[in-house]
Amino acid sequence: MSDESKDPKQELTIESQGWTRRKIFDAAALTSLGVAATALTMERASAAPQEEKHEPKPPEPLEDFKYDLEKQTHWVGPGGSAKEATAEEFPVSQSIAGVSMRLEAGGIRELHWHSLAAEWAYMLEGRCRATVITPEGQADIADFGVGDTWYFPRGHGHILQNLGPGPCHFLLVFDNGHFSEFGTFSVTDWIANTPPDVLSRNLGLPATAFAQFPKKELYIGPGNVPPQTMEALRNVDIEPGQSNHKYRLDHTPARTYPGGTEHMVSSVEFPIQTTLTAVKMTLQPGALREMHWHPHADEWQYYVKGRSRIRIFGSHGRVKTEEFAPGQVAFIKQGYGHYVEQLGDEPTEILILFNSGVYQEISLSNWLGGNPVSMLQTNFPGISRAMIDQLPKKEVGIIGKKA
Ligand code: MN
Ligand code: MN
Repeated sequence: MSDESKDPKQELTIESQGWTRRKIFDAAALTSLGVAATALTMERASAAPQEEKHEPKPPEPLEDFKYDLEKQTHWVGPGGSAKEATAEEFPVSQSIAGVSMRLEAGGIRELHWHSLAAEWAYMLEGRCRATVITPEGQADIADFGVGDTWYFPRGHGHILQNLGPGPCHFLLVFDNGHFSEFGTFSVTDWIANTPPDVLSRNLGLPATAFAQFPKKELYIGPGNVPPQTMEALRNVDIEPGQSNHKYRLDHTPARTYPGGTEHMVSSVEFPIQTTLTAVKMTLQPGALREMHWHPHADEWQYYVKGRSRIRIFGSHGRVKTEEFAPGQVAFIKQGYGHYVEQLGDEPTEILILFNSGVYQEISLSNWLGGNPVSMLQTNFPGISRAMIDQLPKKEVGIIGKKA
């Protein structure tokens, strides 16, 4: 019995009229059903039985899948800058967000954590040092150079500092398109919003000392270049983390294809990276990344060098084509068919992220190989046996320039 039906006043009225609540509901349901049934009968009668009206809703047009990340001006300060592509700026990108961040020599991205997302990064220019604290009370400190990546699981506290001498630039990728709004927690923001007496008890300084701390979130701040040799942690007894947060992507052997190469890091190569797979793909001039789809992951691309054209296929005859150049981002939804045509005379370099720690792909070539000739002949009426025999039987990955 629900609380509602215990209302004595209402029970009384209903019972006194010889109705139970159940009966009232049944009667109401019958009435509305009756109305619907009548409408249906009238519609049937007005149309010939063999041509019953059934107009399917036209499919929604495909969403924009291109975003010009490096053209944005998001945040600039004396210590560095950051440009974001979150679900807010780039609505199709619900599952993945990207940030292009630059730090001046000695500049820091302050101590913070992300409550909604894990963070992956690739060093594009310069060098930086990072620390990360784990829930096991362990800490890591590591230096990153060009071609190195990191992965900080969701919620693990971290900080970055440029080791100099020049600026550093890295691409951050998060496994949640909404990581930014209300999802990033900074140490200065927390301290600025905690009463001094609590801070004094917790942090061991007199309450008056906290007037000298930043009044609001620092985010990115300027600083001096730290010692080049690895510094000791304040607590020299703290244990290094059980799992490494650093993976040297460019220093691993590449898969080579006729039209290019791929460096891949997933949970297989880097066990801590449980929610993302990353690929650094290089397409040689004239290459074609063959027709394929990813059954269980969205694909996010950032153009480092060179250009390409992508055509996505979103079912029901829906296709969309875009061209990409350095600093631009592409997003291809899970299961959407696609291919990438390299453009221009310079090789094209793309950082690609998938929102799964396990890589999966199905290529059209493999699929065609996985069927008997007679089935393909029936599927493609009028196509001769000789033509079927010329179709690929197995994936190529990246097809080389046309001969
Ligand atoms: Mn972060
Ligand atoms: Mn793909």
